[in-house]
Amino acid sequence: MQDRRESQQAMDREVVDQEKEVSKKLKFAKNSGFQAELRRRVDELFQNSNLKERDCPQMYTKTAILLLGFFGVYAALLFLALTWWQVVPLCILLGVITAGIGFSIQHDGAHHAYSNSLWVNKLMAMSLDLIGASSYIWHWKHDVIHHTYTNIAGYDMDLEVGIFGRLSPTHPRLTFHRWQHYYLWILYGFLAIKWHFYDDFNCFITGKIGDRFYPRPKRSNLAIFLVGKLVFLNIALIIPSLFHPFWLVLASYGLVAFTLGIVLSVVFQLAHVVLEAQFPVPAENSSVIEKDWAIHQIETTVNFSRHNPFVTWLLGGLNFQVEHHLFPNICHINYPEISKVVEQTCQEFGVKYNYHRSFWAGCISHFHWLRRMGVS
Ligand SMILES: [Zn+2]
Repeated sequence: MQDRRESQQAMDREVVDQEKEVSKKLKFAKNSGFQAELRRRVDELFQNSNLKERDCPQMYTKTAILLLGFFGVYAALLFLALTWWQVVPLCILLGVITAGIGFSIQHDGAHHAYSNSLWVNKLMAMSLDLIGASSYIWHWKHDVIHHTYTNIAGYDMDLEVGIFGRLSPTHPRLTFHRWQHYYLWILYGFLAIKWHFYDDFNCFITGKIGDRFYPRPKRSNLAIFLVGKLVFLNIALIIPSLFHPFWLVLASYGLVAFTLGIVLSVVFQLAHVVLEAQFPVPAENSSVIEKDWAIHQIETTVNFSRHNPFVTWLLGGLNFQVEHHLFPNICHINYPEISKVVEQTCQEFGVKYNYHRSFWAGCISHFHWLRRMGVS
């Protein structure tokens, strides 16, 4: 028992060292006191209420609903749908539920926000492998790189969409970017397909995410990656083609993945790529970002639809991205309550707390930001 605990602690230390190694090049300004006060107030919130930071009963219910929904709609597509007007809405619904699994189950698990138990978090994080993408790559790309370097061009890989789009002012502008506020919405639909069949394999083969090296996977992580892709291929293409013509299976997969890509992309973009978000860069000849880490997170992130419980439920609290970036390892069920504390503290410290009243207001802001980046 003692040996097992020590080896687990050694493994945890090794992961922390690796994470520091990947994110050590850029530094943030010294803590201004804002973050410590915010942390104190949020701790107080949990001490003086019935809220639980992790292992929230609602999460287990939500997990059951989403997984039952996923396999229920999948079975309906496989065995009940007979006409195109039954297949199309079911594929779209399956795409939305798959996004819900990513937002709620996998995302919390990956941030160790689902449970206090390491293996429960790991299992939940692996739901990403079930829906076609690698939980190992996600950890480095999202938990470490995106959450450390939010909206810093050249560091945050979520800002990189190749030559197709210019999301930040420091990216080069190409002539056709002047139409990006129209065509990028369509290209977002291909995110999941590219992820399933290209990005993960490319990252594993090159050992890089974008231009950043990350630690090579151990044998167990490699096994999870390969088994995950195999299970996904069976679910998405092989099993359905035992019952239906392959062209129909391929078209149905395309529609599910296209819906998934659009939902994932738009939710990510509304949080960081809008008029109200900042895109800081280090001062010339320095590797220091002007603001401290917590203020940087708030200024680069924007909430939306905070008063819509259905949106909060389906998006796994990612309409409260400000709170997610400040407290990524607290379960998202708590974000609406935490947001009251964050907004109040921001007001007192003179930090701008950004939000859109609705999802559509966020979409319009993203459209205008893309148009601005395309022409100037
Ligand atoms: Zn996250």
